[in-house]
Parts: sequence; C-alpha cells; structure tokens
Amino acid sequence: MDAEIIAVGSELLTPERMDTNSLFLTKKLNALGIEVRYKTIVGDEPERLAAVLRGAMNRSQLVIVTGGLGPTEDDVNRNVLAEVLGRKLREVPEVRRRIQERFASLGRTMPENNLRQALVPEGADWLPNELGTAAGLWAQQGGATIVLLPGPPAELEGMFEAQCKARLEKLAPKERILTRVYKVVGLPESEVDQRIAPIYKAYQIPVTTILATPGAIEVHLRARAASEREAEAMLNELGDKIELALGDHIFSSHGESLEEVVGMYLVMKHKTVAVAESCTGGLLSERLTRTPGSSNFYAGGAVCYSDDLKTKMAGVPRSLIEENGAVSKPVAQALAEGIRKRAGASIGIGITGVAGPSGGCPEKPVGLVYVALADEARTQVREFRFPGNRERIRYWATQAALEMVRRSLKS
Ligand code: AMP
Ligand code: MG
Repeated sequence: MDAEIIAVGSELLTPERMDTNSLFLTKKLNALGIEVRYKTIVGDEPERLAAVLRGAMNRSQLVIVTGGLGPTEDDVNRNVLAEVLGRKLREVPEVRRRIQERFASLGRTMPENNLRQALVPEGADWLPNELGTAAGLWAQQGGATIVLLPGPPAELEGMFEAQCKARLEKLAPKERILTRVYKVVGLPESEVDQRIAPIYKAYQIPVTTILATPGAIEVHLRARAASEREAEAMLNELGDKIELALGDHIFSSHGESLEEVVGMYLVMKHKTVAVAESCTGGLLSERLTRTPGSSNFYAGGAVCYSDDLKTKMAGVPRSLIEENGAVSKPVAQALAEGIRKRAGASIGIGITGVAGPSGGCPEKPVGLVYVALADEARTQVREFRFPGNRERIRYWATQAALEMVRRSLKS
C-alpha cells in the first residue's frame, strides 16, 4: 500500500512553522509497511486544497490530510472533503454531544462555531479526539482511503495511535520496511557513489540513497518485504557488498556518531585523550563529552587561542610560534605533545588553523587547518584545506581530529 500526506495550513508555507506531523506519520506508516510516496503542503485555501486532494486520490491508495479541522472560518478541510467526494455534510449528534461535554467539563460555554466540527460527510466515519474538539474523518471512495486528522501534533498523534493504526493494519497487507544507515568518512560523495553505484544499481530493493551531511557521507538502504526476516536478509545481502567496497571508511552502521564510535574505541582499548584546541574553540571537547560516560576516556582539554596560552597551557615553546607562526605544523605537533604530557593522557590532540572569514593570507588561507595526534609511539600531523564558512571549517576540523583518533585505535 502506498500513501501520501497533505499538510494543510497557511502557516506551514511561511518560515515561522514547519510541518512535523508528516514526519511522525511517515515513521508510523513505515512501521506498518506503508511507503509514503508524496507529501504536499498547501495553505488554507479551498480550491487549491481540492485540486491537491483530487490528484492524491487518483494516484494513492491512502491519503492522509492533517490540520484544518478547527472551528474557525479558515479551517476548510471538512467542507473540501465533502465537495471532492460529492457528498453532503450532516451533523452527527454523537460528535455534537462530545463537543458540548468537552466544553462543559472545562466549565466553558460552547461558541456556535464549534458545531461545525460535528459535521461529517455522508458515508464517512468520524474518529474521536480525546485531546480536543476536532473529530477526525475516515472516508473511502474509488479505491482510495482518505483520512483527515487534526493539526495539533498531540491530537494527531493520539488519534493516529488510538484510531488509525488498527484500521490500517486491517487494510494494508502485512509488510515490513527496514532501513540501515552507513556513515562514511574520508571519501567524497562522488567517490562513494563511484565505488558502490555498480553494486546497488543491480538492486531495486533495497532502495539506496546517498546523502552528504556535514563531515560525513551517509548511505541509506531501505527494504520493504513481506516479513521482517526477508527485509533483513535483503539489507544484509546488499549491505555486505557495500561494506566490502567502502571498507574502513565506514565508521558506523547503526546510527552512531563519530564521537560515539571514538569513545567506544577509547574505552575498549583503555586509552584516554586530551586536546589542545585553537581554532575550534572547544568544539572537539564538546563533541567528545556529548556521550554519557565520557569521563572514562576524556582527560580534558585546553582552549588556547592566544600565543601566550599555547605556551602556558600546552607548553608550546615561544620560539616555535615566532619562527613558524601559530598556524603551522610544528605548533600543532607541540600542542598535541604538550597537552598529552601535561594531562598524562594516552593520546594528545592539537588543532590550529584559520577559521576565517578574516585572518587568511596567501600562504595561510582561510580553511587551512593542522591537526596533530600524539600517542605513545609517535606524533602525526596532517594538513587540511577545508572549504566553506567558519562554522563548517571548525566542524570539519573536529571531524578530522576524531577520524585520526579512530584510525590510530583501529589497528
Ligand atoms: P489546525 O488544525 O490547522 O488549526 O492546526 C492547529 C495547530 O496545529 C496549529 O498551531 C498548527 O500550526 C499546528 N499544525 C498544523 N499542521 C501541522 C503540521 N503538519 N505539523 C506541525 N504542526 C501543525
Ligand atoms: Mg490550520
């Protein structure tokens, strides 16, 4: 069964409000084995909504419309549904009674407006709303099922769980959708695709999508099958081949972040890390301490922005900074070695660079970052040229540092 969602509300077409109901619905529908094929956002305008609804009913077996069931003039969904179905609206006494009771229980008198909410198109079912006055609607016509749900997320969620789930389970064939997400570092999107496109193109299921995210490329696999076992087997078959093609560039296949993976490795190997950060201003420390239990592997960090503090906090010789400049290989190396020694940690990280937008020069442009990793055996320093704005450059620098730690612990 394929579904589509229509989110109704003029506010959803402004920068002030976002449609989140469709995210909730998609998750729930997927769990029932129902794929969402289209989503539309439309304002509170009867003609436009009617056109969207007609199109949806023509192409989708299940159409869920959210919002627009309120008591005010701008809530037009129930009228539009009746018009599109070619059916009359009639008042349902039971719904009217529930609305009146709701007002009475809150000690308020019901405005006449609210009686609009007791109108139901002929032949349609109404769905009780335990959290508000807007009843939902459930109608069938020409092979399509149309469901109208209230806009407020809590009401929509409650009504979906209590009323829609069981009905949909009866309606939809028992299918399961499973997904797997591989996160990849150290390869550009184009190379990831070059390596795996010949593999995944041979499969219609699972469906594969490649997404570039800040600091990582994600490969999403999505399988729909008659049973969970079958879907899992499909994911495994394609997944194994993709894992082989991308090798240790994959750092996560169960949704973990890079900092989580690094934390796990550090704990597993009984190692600790300390960091001396210049251009990232503490971002690496922040990421390393996001996971609970980080005290088991994170010794601490210094944000040494000024030359003076690089010397005071990480023991970088003043002469080294004077000779090479603060953004340089030797200073990154000294930061890593210095902080490692001072913290008594197994691994020291040093980061220095030009985050911009100002402060760059031809020899040291914006985006130039040196990351050093010192451990028992040696110190390695890498030079990076990150593109993008200040925020991206800083994030990429921490990503590169985490990746260096991951690689140093993997072997
Ligand atoms: P309505 O039922 O259209 O009067 O909407 C009532 C409230 O629910 C408003 O605050 C809307 O902004 C909110 N709402 C409506 N549709 C959505 C949606 N698709 N996602 C999140 N909130 C919504
Ligand atoms: Mg609305």
